[in-house]
Amino acid sequence: MIESFTLQSLGKEDLIDITDTVNTIVTRSQVTDGICCIYTPHTTAAITINENADPSVRRDILKGLSHLKFEQVSFSHAEGNSPAHCKSSLIGCSEMVFIDGGRLNLGTWQGIYFCEFDGPRTRKVLVKIIG
Ligand code: ZN
Repeated sequence: MIESFTLQSLGKEDLIDITDTVNTIVTRSQVTDGICCIYTPHTTAAITINENADPSVRRDILKGLSHLKFEQVSFSHAEGNSPAHCKSSLIGCSEMVFIDGGRLNLGTWQGIYFCEFDGPRTRKVLVKIIG
C-alpha cells in the first residue's frame, strides 16, 4: 500500500517537518515491525532526516547548501532552476526508516523533512510501508 499527502511550501526554499504526518500513516498501517519509505516525486525537492530540536539547524542546512553557489554557475537548462535540480539530487528524493513497535525508529533528535528548493509550490509525498 502506498499513501500520499500534499503540502504547500511557502518560500523559495524551506525544510518542512513531516515527521508527525509520516508517523500517523505508520500508526494507521498497523505495521509494528517493518520498513517505511518516504519518497517525493519532484525534481526540485528532496527528503532528508536531520535534527528537529533546534530550528536553526534547518536554516543552517539551507545556508550551507547556498554556499555551494549554484546560482553563480552558467547552466543550460532553460527553466532557470538548475540550482534547485542540483540541490534535489544532492539531498536525494527518498529516505527509509525502520518501524519498530509500531513507531518510526528515529533517533532522539531526528525528524523527517521535506526540502523545498524551488517554491512556493504544492508538493506531493509518497509513503510506502512494508511489514
Ligand atoms: Zn527545471
